[in-house]
Amino acid sequence: MSDASRNIDLEVAVLIVGGGGCGLTSSLILSDLGVDHLLIERHAGTSLLPKAHYLNQRTMEVFRQHGVADAIYAVGTPMAQMSKVRWRTSLGGTGPLDGKTFYEIDAFGGGKVAPLYQRDSPCPSSNYPQVRLEPLLRAHAEKRAPGKLRFGHELVSFTQDADGVTAIIKDVEKDQPLTVRARYMIGADGGKTVGPALGVAMDGIKNIARIVSSHVTADLSPWWDDACLITWFINPDHGGTFGSGAMVPMGPTWGRHSEEWTIHFNFNPDDPEQIDEVSVLPRLRALLKLPDTPMTVHKVSHWTLEAVLADRYQVGRVFLAGDAAHRHPPTTGLGLNTAVQDAHNLAWKLAAVVHGRAHPSLLDSYASERQAIGRRNVDWAMFTALNHGVLDAGMGFSPLHTDALRAANFEMFFSDTPMGATRRARAAEVFETQRTEFQAHDLEIGFCYTAGALIDDGTPPPIPDPMGGNYQATTHPGHRLPHAWLSHAGQRLSSHDLAGSEGAFVLITGNDGVAWQSAATVVAERLGVKLVQAAIGAGQAYTDVDGQWAALREISEQGALLVRPDNHVGWRCHAAVGDATATLESALRGLLGR
Ligand SMILES: Cc1cc2nc3c(=O)[nH]c(=O)nc-3n(C[C@H](O)[C@H](O)[C@H](O)COP(=O)(O)OP(=O)(O)OC[C@H]3O[C@@H](n4cnc5c(N)ncnc54)[C@H](O)[C@@H]3O)c2cc1C
Repeated sequence: MSDASRNIDLEVAVLIVGGGGCGLTSSLILSDLGVDHLLIERHAGTSLLPKAHYLNQRTMEVFRQHGVADAIYAVGTPMAQMSKVRWRTSLGGTGPLDGKTFYEIDAFGGGKVAPLYQRDSPCPSSNYPQVRLEPLLRAHAEKRAPGKLRFGHELVSFTQDADGVTAIIKDVEKDQPLTVRARYMIGADGGKTVGPALGVAMDGIKNIARIVSSHVTADLSPWWDDACLITWFINPDHGGTFGSGAMVPMGPTWGRHSEEWTIHFNFNPDDPEQIDEVSVLPRLRALLKLPDTPMTVHKVSHWTLEAVLADRYQVGRVFLAGDAAHRHPPTTGLGLNTAVQDAHNLAWKLAAVVHGRAHPSLLDSYASERQAIGRRNVDWAMFTALNHGVLDAGMGFSPLHTDALRAANFEMFFSDTPMGATRRARAAEVFETQRTEFQAHDLEIGFCYTAGALIDDGTPPPIPDPMGGNYQATTHPGHRLPHAWLSHAGQRLSSHDLAGSEGAFVLITGNDGVAWQSAATVVAERLGVKLVQAAIGAGQAYTDVDGQWAALREISEQGALLVRPDNHVGWRCHAAVGDATATLESALRGLLGR
């Protein structure tokens, strides 16, 4: 049957396949941008597994822009209870090596790195497991698009032609088909259906390890440190390496009184051991050294560690986002965060095209911008996962060490001897390299696009910190707009708040920007584009509260900065020009592919 002859039940601008973090965020943002859409999710409800939990600052900025950050902060982990990661031998136990801490590191914007994280973003990072986050996002998304989120609906097949996508969807409970016609489709399905149907290859390393994640309820308050978000176990009885396990509180109360927890174990892909809800319990007890503590196992999930990237992010009118485009180890917490940020990048472009404000070629920039970030994040997640092996070596555990040597190492490490102190000092130096996972401030907010919807100004970009930590704010095109606190009409706001949630561009000027402001009025009218004018300076509409903006803007008082709706800089001009209107119009047309 051809598309033309098929009965169409429903027509929308955008069809979102998948109701996980990526799909729900896409729906939220498309609603704010006034784009008619439908989200389908094959399960009757949101995820039953805790899965990802760390929400980095860039993700929280996206949620702030789209009005859900406060709801997450109200229920998510307070910074004081997520500011450390520890490596321990066990929680309980009475042996001489039990309950010992090898090392702890400040993490996620807490402790010694807090001033930098606070300086560089209006949003602290947060922590809220997917099992709780998805219902929150769903509630907000449904409120903004009533009736447009259909759970229990599965994409069965689809075709596309020059004008759109025709999707066959099944109402799972009623076993009824539904045919939807959309101008564009987002495959946010974790890679289950859309990418494989398009023949998209997931390139990279597969089957690295088998992970078993257990979701349990237990009172572990006597053994947990309130500030800690993740504890890694390195236990002489369990191999003595990072494969021993890792543990995270899942709330809903945070800190030592968390009611729920997840505990992850690593297995070799060919390990025959099969673990289920019953057989996991003795294993958990042995790892934690808590033989009698009441513990209820809710669910055990098995998943495979891989480091793969889609060879294409766009095929015609279909876009892949989130886990459908990149899957990698959970270290550095990049899975869900990258998924949310994919959605953010794609949504404003779809809106601009659907509303006729941009040429469809703008959509090509989704792949050129986000695939490069996907590459970087897949590689980084793999790098930080494997660095746990470096930590093992830093404690004196390597494949060369016999069991006897390992046992001696543990004793020596914690001994009150000069060699014990030396071992601990060496380990401290090596453990600090894991800041690439837990203090990845530049990786999280300093990423930039080098090819896409941006206009290069011919200046060199800053050289990024190879360890991913030191963030250098810059207005170089392609980078995220630096955050600075401003004052406007008696209100304090971030430079990030200028764009608002409805897809506006922002033109930032200085004390001598009148020509740019006149140009902005003309160009916005001519191109039918929302363009917020923000003159920042003494006596201007926006005041630079503490001089932060002046230190970061990298343009003169006569210059101008054009910021995209997703708060990435699209274009900048360092000084005044002869014809501001022609210059600005050319820049905006360039960004919109017109
Ligand atoms: C057990 C587990 C533990 C994890 N732990 C961590 C962690 O600790 N840290 C971390 O960073 N990451 C973790 N991840 C990865 C993280 O959860 C993902 O990166 C994140 O969920 C990606 O979001 P997404 O929306 O792209 O995909 P998903 O969350 O996979 O959502 C895709 C959705 O699409 C739906 N779907 C699939 N096919 C169809 C179809 N044909 N029709 C309709 N709907 C469909 C699925 O049901 C699903 O709800 C974990 C993943 C798993 C599986």
